[in-house]
Amino acid sequence: MFTKHTYDSGKPGPHLLITAGVHGDEFESISTIHRIQTWIQNELLHGSVTLVPVVNEAAFLRGHRTADDGLDLARTCPGNIDGSVTEQTAHELSELICSADYYIDLHTGGTRISVAPLAGYVLHPNMEVLEPTRQMARAFNLPIIWGTDWRLEGRSLSIARDANVPAIYCEYLGGAQCSIDGINAYENGCKNVMGWLDMIAHSQPDSQIEHFVEDPRPGAGHLQINNPAPFDGVFIASVSLGDSISAGEIYGTLTTMDGTKSVELMAETSGIVILLHTFPGVNTSDPLCVIMSEPG
Ligand SMILES: [Zn+2]
Repeated sequence: MFTKHTYDSGKPGPHLLITAGVHGDEFESISTIHRIQTWIQNELLHGSVTLVPVVNEAAFLRGHRTADDGLDLARTCPGNIDGSVTEQTAHELSELICSADYYIDLHTGGTRISVAPLAGYVLHPNMEVLEPTRQMARAFNLPIIWGTDWRLEGRSLSIARDANVPAIYCEYLGGAQCSIDGINAYENGCKNVMGWLDMIAHSQPDSQIEHFVEDPRPGAGHLQINNPAPFDGVFIASVSLGDSISAGEIYGTLTTMDGTKSVELMAETSGIVILLHTFPGVNTSDPLCVIMSEPG
């Protein structure tokens, strides 16, 4: 269902899997894989690396987050070999994840959303998996690290969890752009992880980490359920990614298409704004704003 490229150093070492394009409109991620393809064979000293530039090729060809069956690939794992295009892709991706020793899944907010640069992971109940996962997230070196509820299902990281494969997902903006800063940060992050795993010669840079949050509360990390749009309309945010916000503060306004109703939207919790719906036209229940808060 998708093209993958495997590079083998011929020497013992881990098998690192890096995927992009689980959603078809996330271009910083896809371009990062294209860049790594140009140097990895020459730089790889130990172990092997598998790169997938676009997991969801059917979605990419539509210029869309999902393929035309409408299923979100990141909610469909482990998929079904006899199912729809997304279910078959999820099946193939799930098998590939189980073959890896470490896994990085690169995302962005896609066309309609922007996400603050972060590395996320599930708070794996097995410390022997959780500790290397934390170290990998730290090594990747984005400003935010966010460990969340391990129980979420259907994701690439759910498959990695069940296979005890240390795994992180990363986010870097989106908003229908392809930020060069995002590609640079992602390429450096992948190099940092490969250096940490002793797969390439690479010394760790100074830490860029500004926030380290672990939130085990049920549903933490589910980006699609936070501050949903109460009705269809035009959303204008009054906060920016990375801002601190307190519960009860206004984060934006939503106005109906015909202009007869407008509401100010209040944050339900205090914390850091890590996701904003940047495409102004929104539908009922679209996630408008995600706030990363400290538990308790
Ligand atoms: Zn995504």
